[in-house]
Amino acid sequence: MNPIQQLTHLDDLKFDNNFIRDLPGDPEKNNYPRQVLAACYSQVLPTKVVNPQRVAFSSEVAELLDLSPELCNSDDFTQVFTGNRISCGMEPYALCYGGHQFGHWAGQLGDGRAINLGEIINSKRERWALQLKGSGPTPYSRTADGLAVLRSSIREFLCSEAMHHLGVPTTRALSLTLTGESVIRDMFYNGNRKAEPGAVVCRVAPSFTRFGSFQLLTARRDHALLKQLADHTIRTHHPHIGEPSPATYLIWFTEICQKTAEMIVHWQRVGFVHGVMNTDNMSILGLTIDYGPYGWLENYDPNWTPNTTDAEHRRYRFGNQPEIAFWNLGQLANALYPLIEQVEPLQEALNVYTETFEQGWQAMMTEKLGFNNYQPETDDSLFSDLIALLQRVETDMTLFYRQLSMISAHTQDNDENLILPLMSAYYVPDQVTADYKTHLYDWLHRYIKRVQQDNSSAEERRTRMHAVNPRYVLRNYLAQLAIDKAETGDFSMIDELLDCLRHPYDDQPDNEAFAEKRPDWARHRAGCSMLSCSS
Ligand code: AMP
Ligand code: MG
Repeated sequence: MNPIQQLTHLDDLKFDNNFIRDLPGDPEKNNYPRQVLAACYSQVLPTKVVNPQRVAFSSEVAELLDLSPELCNSDDFTQVFTGNRISCGMEPYALCYGGHQFGHWAGQLGDGRAINLGEIINSKRERWALQLKGSGPTPYSRTADGLAVLRSSIREFLCSEAMHHLGVPTTRALSLTLTGESVIRDMFYNGNRKAEPGAVVCRVAPSFTRFGSFQLLTARRDHALLKQLADHTIRTHHPHIGEPSPATYLIWFTEICQKTAEMIVHWQRVGFVHGVMNTDNMSILGLTIDYGPYGWLENYDPNWTPNTTDAEHRRYRFGNQPEIAFWNLGQLANALYPLIEQVEPLQEALNVYTETFEQGWQAMMTEKLGFNNYQPETDDSLFSDLIALLQRVETDMTLFYRQLSMISAHTQDNDENLILPLMSAYYVPDQVTADYKTHLYDWLHRYIKRVQQDNSSAEERRTRMHAVNPRYVLRNYLAQLAIDKAETGDFSMIDELLDCLRHPYDDQPDNEAFAEKRPDWARHRAGCSMLSCSS
């Protein structure tokens, strides 16, 4: 990027706060919990903190905003992105939205601990909304404190960036700061209250509007405002579909269905489990949003969820994410119905979700296995048998797919040698019995035959596979190790992980340790395999 375009002062950021300019806000200016009617947001200032300290920043996100590294290292940056100083052009506000939580309509939720600073236009004329998470109470905080703790802020900061570098649509994170104040949390809601370091993440996305933003307006029968919000969203974020009308609302909803399907295909590709797919946590732009008790699949288990709050029904388990996204889109369709007033085209748009997901999933599996193209007669059974095989014994998903590229399809090796590259993927060597191996050999022989039909070189196949099967993901235990260190005042591992996760598809000899499967100590440790919504 041309250094001349980089800003030297945060007051030079060019804000264009069209959300609050176009849409009605809450007339009440005092900050206390309440129901906010006939408005899309409430203006509210971040709470000042005693001793802000910068922990980390993402240089890529800084670049998106035209911020120089020197600026990101300045005290002013730390003051502004903890909410202590409102820079020129910022007009802070919290969004009003509702949502279905765990399948039940919850009414008004809103930004209880997020405060939008405004939207900037960068030198490439892109629009980016900036939002502080954990910067104090808003009218939507209900009985909670509006704050966030260091552990969950590290998780959000690192995972947003890791997902971006993996090619998964996501909100981004500019910075992670400590407030210098402590926050009381009962991590597992079991009476063990503890003071934890307070932190703020500055999140960045074109928009933070959620499915629940529309749902709340429809639930309140505020159809005029529903139309206003839809029109604003289309004009700002989907100008290519034309001026708002019942026809364009449908095109827009169809795009949301497509984008959401594409996002879920990516989640299933990399083994990401969101953990709380409530409709208030679904972005209208199809971005991964609200990193709470998320997790990464270690051993491939479609029934796994990291979220202890969901342990009983496992609504948001890995294998259920595609179905839940569809259900959530169904709720959004209900919310948009007053704008369209026809059921059938909405249903057709929902079918587009299913088609996009199914085709995307097939294409994704085809790439993961390194095939040239999808051949239903052979590939469907290869996909489903592989998924069954991965569940038969504890098999690390990330390592298995990555190592599969090392299986030679061209040399005649005996079976024991053939499977050597895969052995690092197994958690319990004793589970790799003769019976298991029979199934593995059988699948591999079919796989090799299929690879041979493609006529690609080993190199071509490996390159294809390495482009979609990451070597590095933000393993649950790695995030926890970075948190353990940070809680003692050593933030080095946050930067080390961020550095490594910038290139998740490259082999990085210096970072081999970060590719290791979960060590045994982490199997049942809080933060590694179990997380709650307390953050
Ligand atoms: P989540 O499922 O974590 O996205 O949160 C659901 C709702 O609770 C959202 O409206 C959040 O803003 C709100 N919320 C979560 N934690 C807090 C907190 N510590 N203070 C205020 N509101 C919160
Ligand atoms: Mg949320």
